[in-house]
Amino acid sequence: MDRYDQVVIGSGVSGLTASVLLAQGGRKVLLLEKAPTIGGALTRFYREGVPFDTGFHFTGGFADDGLLHEMSKVLGIRDAIVPIVLSPDAAFRFIFEEDGRVYDFPYGIPRLLERLQEYFPADAAGIRQYFGMLKQVWDRTGAMELAAVLSSAMSTAVINEDHTSLQSVLDDLLDSPYLKTLVSAFCMCYGVKPTEVSFANHSRMCHGLYESVARIEGGGGAFIQAFARRLTELGVDVRCGRHVAECADIRGDAVHRFILNTGEEVELESCVLTIHPKEVLKILPKRLLSPAFVTRISDFESSCGFFTVFGVVEAGCKDDAIEKSIVSLLPSTDVNEMLDPWHEGDSALVVIGSVEDVAGVPVKTRCAFEPSFMTEVAEWTDSRTGRRSPGYLEYKRKRAARMQERMNALLDEQKGCFRLRASASVLTYRDHLHSPDGSAYGVKQKLGQINLLGKLPVRNMYIAGQSAVLPGVLGAMLSSFFVTRAVLGKATFGNILLTGGC
Ligand SMILES: Cc1cc2nc3c(=O)[nH]c(=O)nc-3n(C[C@H](O)[C@H](O)[C@H](O)COP(=O)(O)OP(=O)(O)OC[C@H]3O[C@@H](n4cnc5c(N)ncnc54)[C@H](O)[C@@H]3O)c2cc1C
Repeated sequence: MDRYDQVVIGSGVSGLTASVLLAQGGRKVLLLEKAPTIGGALTRFYREGVPFDTGFHFTGGFADDGLLHEMSKVLGIRDAIVPIVLSPDAAFRFIFEEDGRVYDFPYGIPRLLERLQEYFPADAAGIRQYFGMLKQVWDRTGAMELAAVLSSAMSTAVINEDHTSLQSVLDDLLDSPYLKTLVSAFCMCYGVKPTEVSFANHSRMCHGLYESVARIEGGGGAFIQAFARRLTELGVDVRCGRHVAECADIRGDAVHRFILNTGEEVELESCVLTIHPKEVLKILPKRLLSPAFVTRISDFESSCGFFTVFGVVEAGCKDDAIEKSIVSLLPSTDVNEMLDPWHEGDSALVVIGSVEDVAGVPVKTRCAFEPSFMTEVAEWTDSRTGRRSPGYLEYKRKRAARMQERMNALLDEQKGCFRLRASASVLTYRDHLHSPDGSAYGVKQKLGQINLLGKLPVRNMYIAGQSAVLPGVLGAMLSSFFVTRAVLGKATFGNILLTGGC
């Protein structure tokens, strides 16, 4: 039987980060992944040789040696990650479909503040206050800097703004419904309504996106390749197509042996789980869990998922704007409604462009996302990818057609140029990512809800992942830094940061 100091479960960006850090700390690490390949939501798929990104598309955190830059450096993958900056003047473009109003967000908070004041002069004072409050949250939330992960305890500090909803702050400070929509539109980047998310968490999420936003050359695939190289260099064992079928040798409230689905057995000192909390519940030995703990996890609500269309732009068509900006089409000024599982009709539609090298030929790709929920596909939840009913295929066809119709109506350059190559529903994401409900960002980071981070009720098991601290690639990586600090201890972890140049 193989023996490991650390078993990491799940090989998305959280699990990859945890595995590299633990191995850098001198641990013998085994990484277990249920899917046939590593990467989780970072993975790419191919249609007619053209690559498309499954989950990850853009991120903040690279500006001015930002947090993602710092973390990538410590992990030894920074050199392999090439950010592609978007238009400094219009990194995000928001178009209101009802009346055609267009608003652009430039890079950098001072410039954004100024721009919003130009757009909404009557709200100038409220805009200043809004950004003042954001800054206060950032200043008091040490977790936005790596050094703070070393010095602080497991979780981010709880401050007053953790108990105030984004919506209530917007209603207090701002009048224009368009402005409120613009400053809450990033709720789509973590899948929680403005009425449900705390102002503090919204601020933490927006920090990197306001400062700058970048796509990555080679998309999520670039991260996977860089991590794969590091895992090999550090001697991490990786086993795909594996999951824990049974916990065995349970002594002193700790699990000492895993029996895998393949029958293989591994001995372990401790384990970091980076999967959805409800999947975690399926692994932990029931007799070590209190009914209260089980109820708490079972009651967690998931963030929104997406319906996505993936396509290419015909050669010769001009739609450069979408390569430089992330464009959102907004059907109304009600972000809460757009993120409601029972909402009917159009929702926000986000279009992201990329140029991919396909055998030496540049090919323009486009992905467009609409928030989506299991409620929309309830009648097909028992089906699996590749074996779905004609009714489901018709649902996908109609939804993809409606999304293309909206893009054609409002994105002039794109008219008639988009060629659909694939589409994905929340069921596609559920099956591909082995998550319970196909949500894009795991469990909601919600007002009044304390998500799981760090030690679990089983003595030698820890939880990290996008549901722990903040969602998105940056938040998922950060959670693994927190948890690794707890596993390795301050001295060893501090040494890793130092050798990584922090
Ligand atoms: C459509 C979509 C668009 C997104 N866009 C962006 C974006 O533009 N920018 C951004 O920052 N974030 C984006 N996100 C979110 C981002 O991709 C995630 O927050 C992040 O990648 C999550 O990483 P993770 O490691 O926590 O989870 P995952 O990437 O989901 O990885 C979990 C892994 O665990 C595996 N697993 C599950 N159960 C088991 C088990 N029992 N045993 C072993 N393995 C198991 C899964 O197969 C998976 O590989 C998007 C997500 C989606 C779905």
